[in-house]
Amino acid sequence: MGKFIKDETGISAIITALVMTIILTATALALDIGAAYVDASYAQNAADAIALSIGEYLPVEQNDQSSKTMILAAANEFALKNGVYDLKTEDVIFCGLEDGKYKSVSVSVKKTSVTKLAKIIGVDNIKITKSATVSSKPVGSIKGAVPIGITEDAYDTAMATGNTQHVILKVGGGDGVNGFYGFIVLDDSNGNAVVLEKWMKYGYEFENYVGEILPIATGDKTSVVRDGVNYRLSLCNHYVGYDGCKVAHYVEDCPRVVFVLIYRFVNTNTVEIVGFAPFILEPSNKDDEIQGSFLDINISYTEKITEKDCGTYTYRLTG
Ligand SMILES: [Zn+2]
Repeated sequence: MGKFIKDETGISAIITALVMTIILTATALALDIGAAYVDASYAQNAADAIALSIGEYLPVEQNDQSSKTMILAAANEFALKNGVYDLKTEDVIFCGLEDGKYKSVSVSVKKTSVTKLAKIIGVDNIKITKSATVSSKPVGSIKGAVPIGITEDAYDTAMATGNTQHVILKVGGGDGVNGFYGFIVLDDSNGNAVVLEKWMKYGYEFENYVGEILPIATGDKTSVVRDGVNYRLSLCNHYVGYDGCKVAHYVEDCPRVVFVLIYRFVNTNTVEIVGFAPFILEPSNKDDEIQGSFLDINISYTEKITEKDCGTYTYRLTG
C-alpha cells in the first residue's frame, strides 16, 4: 500500500511537470507570436507608407531608367523615415505593365522578429514579409480646368495613331488638323467671353468631374483662346534660355500645362465629361488654332477616380 502511494505521488509529479512544460511553452509561443504580430503590423504600415510615397511618380515608361532610379531613391528615403533600414532594389518591383508603361509598384518590407521565450523550443526568430502595391489611376475630378475640350473620339484617335505631340486643334475642325475643340461652360453661368477668358487664363476655381453634364458655349470665342494661351505662355519662368517649358522638358504645374476636357456629346449643345487630358501649350500664330502636346501627369490625391485613361492620374493602394 505504502509503495503504491509513493508511486502515485511520483506519477503526479511527472504529470505536473509535463503540464507545466506545456503551459510554459504555450505561453512562450503566445507572447512571441503576439510580438511578431506587432512587428508584422509595423512592417505592413511601413510598406503602405513607402508605396504611397512613390505613387505620385506613376505611371513610368518601361525603359525610362532615370525615372525608375529616382523612384527607387524616393522609396529608400521614405523607408529610412519609416524605420526600414535594409530596403533592397529587389524589394521594389515595377508591375502592371500596360501600353509600355508600368502603372504599379509593389514594395516588400522584410522584418525579423526575434523571439525571447520560444528560444527554449528552438525557435530563435520569426521572419515576416509584408507587401503593398500602389497603382496610378485616372482621375475622376479636377480643379483648374480650362473651358475647352475635344471629343473622346478625337482623343482616342490621337492616342491610337501616336499623334500626341505638336497637335493642332482648331475651332470647329477643318482640313489638315488633328482635331477640333469646342468651348465648354464650366458652371451654370451663360459662359460669356469674359468668364471664358478668365477660366482660360487662370483655370476654373471649382471642381469638374467625370459624368458632369455641361453646356457648350456658342458664338465666336477665338480671341478668348488667343488671349488665354498667350497669357499662359508668357507666365512660364522655367528653363530660361531653353524656350521655357515644352514637351521635351517641363514643370508639371507650369501655367503652360492645361487640362483639356475630354467629352462626348449628349445632344447638340450638351456634353458629358469623360476625362481630363494634360496638354502643354505651344506658340501658334493662328487665331483659330491651339497647338500643343498631350502629356501624362500624376497630380496629387483626388477623391474620385475613373476608368478611362486620359493621361491625368492620381494613385491608390491596390494591394
Ligand atoms: Zn514653365
